[in-house]
Amino acid sequence: MNKIVLSVLITITACGANAQEPASRTLTTNVNVFDGVNDSLIENASVLIEGNLIAAVATEPVEAEGATMIDGAGRTMIPGLIDAHWHTLYCCNPQSVVVTGDILEVAIRGAKGAEGTLMRGFTSVRDVGGNSFAIKRMIDAGEIPGPRILPSGPPVTQTGGHFDYRPYQAVPTDPAEPLWYWYAVGLMAQADGVPEVIKRSREIMRMGAGQLKISTGGGVSSTYDPLDVRQYTCAEIEAFVEVADTYNTYVASHIFTDDAARIAVEAGVKSIEHGFLMSRETMELMRDNDVWLSLQPLLDDEDGFTFSEPESQRKWIEVTNGTDRTYTMAKEVGVKVAFGTDILFDPALAERQGAFLAKLQRWYTPFEVLEMATSINAELLALAGPRNPYQEGKLGVIAEGAYADLILVDGNPLEDIDLVADPHGTFDLIMKDGVIFKNTTGE
Ligand SMILES: [Zn+2]
Repeated sequence: MNKIVLSVLITITACGANAQEPASRTLTTNVNVFDGVNDSLIENASVLIEGNLIAAVATEPVEAEGATMIDGAGRTMIPGLIDAHWHTLYCCNPQSVVVTGDILEVAIRGAKGAEGTLMRGFTSVRDVGGNSFAIKRMIDAGEIPGPRILPSGPPVTQTGGHFDYRPYQAVPTDPAEPLWYWYAVGLMAQADGVPEVIKRSREIMRMGAGQLKISTGGGVSSTYDPLDVRQYTCAEIEAFVEVADTYNTYVASHIFTDDAARIAVEAGVKSIEHGFLMSRETMELMRDNDVWLSLQPLLDDEDGFTFSEPESQRKWIEVTNGTDRTYTMAKEVGVKVAFGTDILFDPALAERQGAFLAKLQRWYTPFEVLEMATSINAELLALAGPRNPYQEGKLGVIAEGAYADLILVDGNPLEDIDLVADPHGTFDLIMKDGVIFKNTTGE
């Protein structure tokens, strides 16, 4: 008996000793810092990292005895990049696998894709649909490499809506039938009518979602929803919003068309995903109601998506014809714009994530591009309030107390934003949560 007590005491002492160990420290010197907010660099600075947070950004010499030293050699330090419209699972699986495959294959490809995302310098993503909870937990625990994930869990669709990828023969349904495979494994969710909307929303929040993702307008890659179709009744959309509000978070909705966007804003949706076919009036309504426009530089260019369904291809052209007009108008109106890529079903295209960011130079200055992909996107992530799991430090900035998520760039992206399009060549150091995942500085 005494022996058992003794061993317990020893364990407690050992744990106590571990807890008091000083956090690891890294001092990076001789860097020019883009802090995520200001358009000029903090030149010849030193940045001290303690544990997973930034402890100091200084232009004076910093006392850092015992710290690991990295000579930045005049490189530019920028905050880790953020993709506000990312699908951890859909990005890197062929559509045929997402629709007809096995969840294990989808998950493994998703985990591999998460590592690729981090190694492109994207240290945080807002996952706007898919079951990324397990991958997120393993990343946060340091078991596998990947970005911080703010998950939405399964995106919710009505019958025949954007995330209803069931085969043609799936309807009519019998309420006694089991859930379709992808609904049962949480890759997508379906709800019709206010009571089911409330139930599914609560289930998704119970899984650990940061915010709810729904679809209230026609989609491109889906089969049974022409673009002009509005999805969900006002009462149903309001029910999603109300459940999100009880969890002190918000609803993001997939929408392209103008009337669907206006109705969503009036129902309380706080983030319109895509919105390429919107009018100026609706954009002004969004601006006046603090609603985000989560845009992607989707163009029918060398990175244009190709769909096996001719109708999807036709919808793709219709939507991407609105991209240029939408960015231009959003800038004029002054609505809050977030940057995302929405890369789907193609690991090779996912490699172009940084190239998508660089495409914003058609509409924005390099500073505006970098600000959007760092501090501004971080603001959108923070809209999840207490459901945002990353609250120990700030995201998207380089400042005292912020998370140590940062990149050393070989060159100055404020002068040449194309540097972010080639992360494997120009990102010499990638750190997330104080951990170095790449270091080719020679230090
Ligand atoms: Zn999407």
